[in-house]
Order: sequence, then structure tokens, then C-alpha cells
Amino acid sequence: MEVLKVENINKSFDGVHAVKEVSLKIETGKIYGLLGPNGAGKTTTIRMIMNIIVPDSGKITLFNQPMEDSLKAKIGYLPEERGVYPKMKVHEFLKFLGELHDMRGAGLDEQVDLWLKRFDLATMGHFKVEELSKGNQQKVQLIGSFLHDPQLLILDEPFSGLDPVNVNLVKEIIMEFKEQGKAIILSTHMMDAAEKICDHVYLINKGQKVLDGELDKIQQQYGHNSVQLEYK
Ligand code: ATP
Repeated sequence: MEVLKVENINKSFDGVHAVKEVSLKIETGKIYGLLGPNGAGKTTTIRMIMNIIVPDSGKITLFNQPMEDSLKAKIGYLPEERGVYPKMKVHEFLKFLGELHDMRGAGLDEQVDLWLKRFDLATMGHFKVEELSKGNQQKVQLIGSFLHDPQLLILDEPFSGLDPVNVNLVKEIIMEFKEQGKAIILSTHMMDAAEKICDHVYLINKGQKVLDGELDKIQQQYGHNSVQLEYK
């Protein structure tokens, strides 16, 4: 089932054409890699999907409706910029995020505790967010993005600042979400970390889509290092 359709979106900043005619089609039960080097236009594309910035032209359809802010409730979003509310305690911060998505009471507490445990942060619930290492802050932000069980998960650089053990944990969780039928967009410049778990790859370079297809078909056609090769 289609959850997101992006048709020929464009965005320029002071004469820099950051996103050119990008189109994406996102369906449930699949992991989509939005891959490309720094500055390729991935974050700008995501911010347009999230209605944070408005495209100069093109069309975005979410859950078969034109984009509007109320639809954001169905999305889990890990923004590229981190560190909001550094003074809040970890548990309190996550409860606050859950409440923003209409989660309440014992169920919310239970979910927060379960996820903290899964990320080996069970003893850190009473620390302030700013007291955690960058990697642990990243894990807290990740929990915040999927606490409310969204149908579509958009993760901007989810692996940054994580050690290999936690990169694997995040990949494992993303795979579980896929099995549950969620749609996941994984935006990263860390191609080798993302590539293996993606069903479909959108490779962006200099604002434009340069590869679009099922990962196994791309590999059959161009060889196993195709995504990295195209990227250089
Ligand atoms: P990164 O991981 O480095 O953020 P990216 O692929 O997400 O890379 P974008 O952040 O979307 O790339 O940036 C695409 C281009 O648009 C870059 O040249 C960037 O400098 C420019 N850009 C993005 N946002 C703005 C802005 N608000 N004002 C001016 N230029 C911008």
C-alpha cells in the first residue's frame, strides 16, 4: 500500500538548486534507502516531505491526501538536527514526545521503559539528555521517533554517532518494523551501513536522483558495488 508519493519536487536556495525534479514512491512493508553524499539534497527532500519547507514546485501526497500538518502524527521523524530539550530528563523527554502523539498513562510509561531497556539505557532514565554521550543521545532521539508506533518512519542519518554494535541494533529494529508492515525511509551517506537492509534504493547526487530501483535488480545489473560506484 502506498503511503507517500513525491512527484517532481524542486527547491532552490539563493540560486542553488538543492533538489531537482525528485520523485519517490513509498509503500508499506519496505525499507527505502535515500542515499547520497553530504550536500546531495537528502535533508532538503525530507524537510519538504515533513512540510518544514515548501517545495518551489511539485507535489507531495501522504496517505493518499495532500500534505497537511495533521498527517505528521502518522509519521515518525528523526531530524538531522539533534539535541532538542537537553535539560529534560531522558524518561521525561520521551514521555513528553509520546504525549505529543496522544499517548498517555501506564501504556506510555511501559513503552518508554521497554525501549530504554532495548537500547541499554534503562539506568539512564533520570539523567538529563545533555548528560548523555552523543551516541546515547542519538539512541534517545531514535526512541522518540518511533515511540508512537508510526506507519511511516523517516530517519535522517540514524547511524551517525553510533558504534557498530548500536548500528546493528538499529538495523535489527528497522527490519522488525518492516516485518510489522511499516514503511521506512533511511537517509544516510553511510552507504555500506544502509545498503544491505534496503529493499529499494534512491540514490541522490547534486540534487538529482541518479539511481532508482530494487536493490537486488540494481546489483544484478551493475554488480554488487554499484551503489558505492555510482556515488563516487
Ligand atoms: P547533509 O547530510 O550534508 O545534510 P544532504 O544530502 O542532506 O546532505 P542537504 O542538506 O539537503 O543535503 O543540502 C543540499 C544543498 O542545499 C546543499 O548545497 C546545501 O548547502 C543547500 N542548502 C540546504 N538547506 C539550505 C538553506 N536553508 N539555505 C541555503 N542552502 C541550503
